[in-house]
Formats: sequence, C-alpha cells, structure tokens
Amino acid sequence: MTSIFITGVAGFIGSNYAHYVAAKYPDYHIAGVDKLSDFSRRENVAALESGGRLKFHKADICDREAMEKIYREHQPEYVVNFAAESHNDRAIADPTTFVRSNVLGAQTLLDLSRILKIRRHVHISTIEVYGEQASDVPFFTEASPLNAKTPYSASKAAGDSIVRSYMQTYPGMDICMTHCANNYGPYQFPEKLIPLSITNMLTGKKAALYGDGLHRRDWLHVYDHCAGIDAVLHSARVQITEEAATNPALLPIFDFSARHEVSNREILGIVVDELGLKFEDHVEYVADRPNHDRRYLINPLKAETDLGFKPSISFEQGLRETVRWYVDNRSWWEPILAGNQSLQFDWSKK
Ligand code: NAD
Repeated sequence: MTSIFITGVAGFIGSNYAHYVAAKYPDYHIAGVDKLSDFSRRENVAALESGGRLKFHKADICDREAMEKIYREHQPEYVVNFAAESHNDRAIADPTTFVRSNVLGAQTLLDLSRILKIRRHVHISTIEVYGEQASDVPFFTEASPLNAKTPYSASKAAGDSIVRSYMQTYPGMDICMTHCANNYGPYQFPEKLIPLSITNMLTGKKAALYGDGLHRRDWLHVYDHCAGIDAVLHSARVQITEEAATNPALLPIFDFSARHEVSNREILGIVVDELGLKFEDHVEYVADRPNHDRRYLINPLKAETDLGFKPSISFEQGLRETVRWYVDNRSWWEPILAGNQSLQFDWSKK
C-alpha cells in the first residue's frame, strides 16, 4: 500500500489535497499533520478521518522528534509539505512565527526525508517568492530570481533556498518544488481576500478593497492546483545536472497558473453579482497594506509541457461556485467569525 504524508492538512490547500488524494487513490494510506493554528480547521478533513481514510496528528513540523515519530509510524513514500504560515497581513504583524515554520519547519522535514530515504519529497511554495513584477517583464518563470519583499514572501523564499540547496547537495534525494499563483475555492479561511469579502457581505458588512483595488493577480482554483501537485508527485524523476547550478529552470521546480489575470476590483464585482448585491453598497476602499505587490504573473509553460498541466475550471465559474459554497456552508465559517472580532486588517491605524 502506498503511504503519503501531508503536512498542513487542516489548512486550505492541504485539506483540499487530502480530499483529492483520497478520491483519486482509494488504496493510498494518508497521514496528515497540522499544528492546528488559529487559522486552520481540523473539520476540513473530519470526513476523511471518520471514514478511516486519514490518520491525523496534531504536531509542529519544527518539532523534529514528533516528525520522526510520524515518519517512522507511517513510513511514507511521499511527503508533501503544505505546512506554512500563509497570511501576508499577519506576517507584517508577527514575522518571527513565519520564519520559524516556513524555514526551520521546511528544513526539518527535508532533513528527515533525507535521513529516512523518502522516495519523493514535494515542497509547496508560492509565486510570491519572485516579488513584484517590473512593467517590462511579461511574467515570472522557474528561472526568475527570488526577490521577495514582504516578511511572508521572504520566509517562503528562504524556505525555497533551503529546498534548492538540498536538491543540489544531496543527489540521492528526490525533491520537487512548486510555485503557484493565488488559489481560491472551498475551505479557505475567511481572512483571505475572496472568503473574507464573501463572508463580510453575507453578514451585512462591507468588503474591503485595499488602495485603489487595481492590484492584479493570477488565480487558480484549488482543485486544479491539487491536480498539478498530483502530476508533480507522479512525474518522471529529474536528474540534477551541473548546469542546474546556474539555471534553476533545470531543477525539478514547476510553476502553476491558469494564465488568468484579474484585479481585486473585478473579483469583488463577480462576488457582488453572484450574491445579487450592489457594488457601491457592499464594497469600500480602505488603506493599503504596506509594501503591497501591485502585480505578479507566472508562466506555467514548463508544467504544461512536461506534465501536461491544463486547468479544468474557468475563473468566473470557479469563483461563482466558491461564492455558493460559502452561502451553503455557513456552519463552517460562522463559528470562526464568532470567535474573532474582525479578520480584516486596518492598516490606517498601524
Ligand atoms: P493555510 O494557512 O490555509 O494552511 C497552512 C496550514 O499549515 C495551517 O493549517 C497551519 O495550521 C499549518 N501550519 C503552519 N505552521 C505549521 C507548523 N509549524 N507545523 C504544523 N502545521 C503548521 O495556507 P494555504 O493557503 O493552504 O497554503 C498552503 C501552502 O501553499 C503554503 O506553503 C503557501 O505558501 C502555499 N501557497 C498558497 C497559495 C494560496 O493562494 N493560498 C498559493 C500558492 C502557494
């Protein structure tokens, strides 16, 4: 039986990925870990746990002893690391926690995968490690320099550097890494733009647009991201050549996007339309986050060519379905809002 270990399994993408694996591979044994931060939901995988499809562990990926125990218990062939502190606003308020999980945690797992000879280790990273896009740069690729400028993206970029160093220093290891555009879909904690805006509107509050609302992003439905990770997990092994030392595009790194760029303002336009509301009554412009990247796009050509990656969900269809998911699953997000004064950061007061 194939065994897979998924970290950050109570988070947005990790839990969607656990459901993806459980549905696609009925014979896989799935183990998951999460430290259960205030921004995670064990309920996301409750159905898998109760159905005997997932063995959950509450632990911190920086705790080497706890991680080694889990590795030895489940003897995974595959490790997929989603565990990370992930919210840009919170990283500005508390960078230390981000560096700990996103750098030390990533390295702790890599080292155990090295020592315990895991068949393949996949590290999940983000487009944000490439930083802000210059107007004369059409998009980032796997060869783009790391140029993070916020504490969140800098901690992820530092994690990336550790991953690249392991890829090149330990040729016996099979490590892959992904960078993905912004994700949206079910089970996203209502502190991020799309679920925060939807849940604000559903509770009679206004959704907030930072600055002029014209920050542009590349969006991929979480299901398509999971399909891309699955393709990476089962792809042919990439041999690390000497040329890779000067050309990171030759490393087993894959960038994912749907080639769909949209402004935050356009997103909220679709959300209000799906909810049958008026933009001017339900959206307000607020002070921008410091150092907010205006625009970043990623080119998924390598994933398309080498892995046959092709998103299956159009942005507008996926966003409208996501709005419906939050309308239909109030019992998932209402307790979160009840326990928090507000998940909206107010940068005018910082
Ligand atoms: P998330 O915050 O919803 O989930 C992360 C999970 O990791 C949480 O459940 C949290 O409790 C857990 N975690 C954090 N630190 C931990 C630690 N030290 N030990 C154990 N568990 C820990 O975030 P997400 O959106 O699901 O992102 C998952 C990964 O995907 C991150 O690495 C992120 O950088 C990357 N990513 C996210 C997006 C996006 O748009 N959300 C896009 C591209 C890449």
